[in-house]
Amino acid sequence: MTFVMGTEETLDLVIIGFGPASLSLMVALHDHSENPLRNKKICVLEKSPSFSWHSGMLIPGSNMQISFVKDLATPRDPTSYFSFLNYLHQHGDERLSGFLNLLTMEPSRYEFHDYLCWAAGHFKDYVQYGANVTKLEYDQSLDLYRITYGDHQKIAKNVIVATGGQANIPEPFSSLQSPQVIHSSGFMFDDSQCKLRSAKHGVLVIGSGQSAAEIWNYTHNIIDSKLPLTLAYRNLSLIPSDSSPFVNSLYFDSHNSHWWYNLPEQTRIQGLRNGHTTNYGVVKEGLLEDMFREQYMQKLKYGKAYHNFLNATYVDSVEQKDDHILVTLASNLDGNEKKTTQKFDVVYLATGYNHASYETILSPIFPHPRDIHIAENYLVENSPSKNSRLFVIGISTYQHGIGETLLSWTAVRAGEMASQLFGPSKPTARRFSP
Ligand SMILES: Cc1cc2nc3c(=O)[nH]c(=O)nc-3n(C[C@H](O)[C@H](O)[C@H](O)COP(=O)(O)OP(=O)(O)OC[C@H]3O[C@@H](n4cnc5c(N)ncnc54)[C@H](O)[C@@H]3O)c2cc1C
Repeated sequence: MTFVMGTEETLDLVIIGFGPASLSLMVALHDHSENPLRNKKICVLEKSPSFSWHSGMLIPGSNMQISFVKDLATPRDPTSYFSFLNYLHQHGDERLSGFLNLLTMEPSRYEFHDYLCWAAGHFKDYVQYGANVTKLEYDQSLDLYRITYGDHQKIAKNVIVATGGQANIPEPFSSLQSPQVIHSSGFMFDDSQCKLRSAKHGVLVIGSGQSAAEIWNYTHNIIDSKLPLTLAYRNLSLIPSDSSPFVNSLYFDSHNSHWWYNLPEQTRIQGLRNGHTTNYGVVKEGLLEDMFREQYMQKLKYGKAYHNFLNATYVDSVEQKDDHILVTLASNLDGNEKKTTQKFDVVYLATGYNHASYETILSPIFPHPRDIHIAENYLVENSPSKNSRLFVIGISTYQHGIGETLLSWTAVRAGEMASQLFGPSKPTARRFSP
């Protein structure tokens, strides 16, 4: 492969991936008193053609799962231009008062997405969209990192990998590779919605978390009431998410990332297990109530629920047929395996995310992802260089706690990273001066 040179200048910082974690970092760099965005050479590489935040899950009616106060900047510096409230303010007085009249702390996902796009727009000169990074190498002769995307390379002194999660497609669906099997991350895209609206056999949703529930609920409202719609999951029951204050403060207060990191390993693992119901395979209680009510009404109206739920159920086999997918679902609650085979036009996999991108990118340096040691300050402490630095953010739940991959402490972490990279920032808040 021939690389397009001419971009061989050494950059001070390359950030790989432009999700909320990196965006928050760009905001922190903007707010930094030393003005690194102007004084340093900084570039962000993002594989998508434009900024987006889980755009395939912008389901009408879906809301944020955290307070808008935990935006890109406020927990770090409430006077930042990039707060959610200032975003509203920048869109006119009526927008701010209109939002206040909603009496909510949890805006629609649609509006938060718009906020993130607004913030991202300010950094367009630093971001290269459509840049799918495939590898990161250490150049020993230069003592710098080389980042490859397409037939281009960049060389940098500091690299931050912030590639978030990639759609997790489990077996047997990954072998099937059918266009009728769609991961939740693509649910709202045109192709998926076309399939949904023209369905004639039935729709299957797999998973027990918030995404699975939202997809079931939305589908329930738009397809024919008597077209089979099934939500299948392994758990015995759908479980409500825990966002009570004691639990929230323990798992999602930003200063606790350091506390989690320094716990003895066994205590941390136990703590992470206990906190599972804050985020994994759980659903907002209000949505569970809506779904239960809808199923009840179906039974009342039609004598049975065409739109139903199958607990303790797993996928036994799948087969691609002419215009449908034949799925055999199995359950063995009482020790006797029961199987049912059904036709579906489309199967939605709300089966979560993995970190495939980060593993691929770092594989030239770390062929085994388990060998990567992420320090408390997100530095990869066993990276090959003494002078150039490699950081990873948004991946280390195991070390830093459940909040690490979420939005809760993005802003504070971004401030800490900015200080590490370019020195401490002088306070910028407008001060009271009598
Ligand atoms: C539907 C949904 C709703 C959610 N709602 C909430 C919520 O309300 N509150 C909350 O705290 N968390 C929520 N989350 C969790 C979510 O992980 C965070 O909101 C957030 O997206 C994490 O930001 P990030 O920047 O670390 O990762 P991401 O948002 O995943 O961003 C990573 C970016 O890296 C890019 N990228 C990946 N690989 C490459 C590559 N090889 N080269 C270049 N670019 C690459 C991706 O395209 C992406 O833009 C939600 C998740 C989902 C799926």
